[in-house]
Amino acid sequence: MSQSVAKKLGVKSLYQALDHELAQAKEAKTYKYEVPVEGRMGGVVQANGRSQVMLASNNYLGLANHPRIVEAAKKGLDKYGYGLASVRFICGTQPLHLELEERIARFLGTEAAILHSSCFAANEAFFAALLGAQLGASDYRDVIYSDALNHASIIDGIRLSRIAVKTTDLNAYKHNNIQQLRTALAEDKAKDYRISVIATDGVFSMEGEYAPLKEFVEMAKSNDALLFVDESHSTGVLGATGRGTPEHCGVHGKIDVISGTLGKALGGAAGGFIAGKKNLVDFLRQKSRPYTFSNSLPPAIVAAAIEALNILEEDSSLVEKLHQNTDYFRKEVKRLGFTILEGIHPIVPVMVGEASTAMDMSNQLLEQGVYVRGLWYPVVPNGEARLRVQISAAHEVEDLDRALAAFASVGKKLGVI
Ligand SMILES: *Cc1c(COP(=O)(O)O)cnc(C)c1O
Repeated sequence: MSQSVAKKLGVKSLYQALDHELAQAKEAKTYKYEVPVEGRMGGVVQANGRSQVMLASNNYLGLANHPRIVEAAKKGLDKYGYGLASVRFICGTQPLHLELEERIARFLGTEAAILHSSCFAANEAFFAALLGAQLGASDYRDVIYSDALNHASIIDGIRLSRIAVKTTDLNAYKHNNIQQLRTALAEDKAKDYRISVIATDGVFSMEGEYAPLKEFVEMAKSNDALLFVDESHSTGVLGATGRGTPEHCGVHGKIDVISGTLGKALGGAAGGFIAGKKNLVDFLRQKSRPYTFSNSLPPAIVAAAIEALNILEEDSSLVEKLHQNTDYFRKEVKRLGFTILEGIHPIVPVMVGEASTAMDMSNQLLEQGVYVRGLWYPVVPNGEARLRVQISAAHEVEDLDRALAAFASVGKKLGVI
């Protein structure tokens, strides 16, 4: 390894090395192919030359092409134009941006919120800004407790904060292992950390499991730690009114910091946010580098995201439909004899074992009109390859039945059931 680092790679051999890497990825079946969706996103889409039941999208509420969302985006475009050609603090703020930030905060039960171009950027911003801040102290250490399965953007945010200042310790606890976390917090009491942050996904995207936030809230409180929860897969999804994992766990309004995306349930286009105390949000407006040095969200997206919150606050019919569809699919796919990871989330991992089975099955399902992606090592543990089904309020029961029939036929052919 050290030898190849020391060896100069000319431009020509650089490109050769890239070709070799790509060929290896194809051989190892880790190369990611894209199957274009030929038209709009929805419960049923056009792809691979035919109609497909879409089971791979994060379009949980079916808002990606909801008529009200499309209309709101058009109005935003007409009234506020295409773009602002600026970052927020120079001249990239319209009343619309401030309105959306207030609406996100109100919906999630926090004091304030700050938009970013994505949740990925928001997560990076949060850790780098907060733990990079001196805050008057000169001699200190901080600590972050992070679930081993946290999203890549949390991991990168933590990395950034540990590069910027060398005063942040990382304690990665095993996935959802409350006991390990509790022990670590207790052991660290004597260390007198300046800031302790507990960071977790609200919902984990490979498993469709949620973090037991009631326990987290109690633990954070009794250890004087800041609780950070990434609600990207949960806002608009979990809880009777779609307020996410905190609502589901009975701790709505009790999470210190919530990050989330506008790119999943809330319209599916782009954008992310951090929600929390007013002073923390104001601090991020001053110190977040992705906020300070990257463009402001386009008004069409902002207007549509406000409409998404309007839809959610008016009534819970889409959330209810999502929950009903999820219950239905979970029950029926098990009845066919498939093994799934139990849970309540519209992410339904259908376990098939070997990577090659997951590959064959997703390819054959695509031929039979079901668009679903397989996940295998190294994304999930070896031998735990799965098809990750994602249910949406955009599905009708007949769509789900069509998908289930294809699952049954392909599953039998491949000996999975
Ligand atoms: C999807 C996702 C993100 C990234 O959101 P973007 O807005 O697409 O950048 C971050 N965190 C989690 C947990 C996610 O699932």
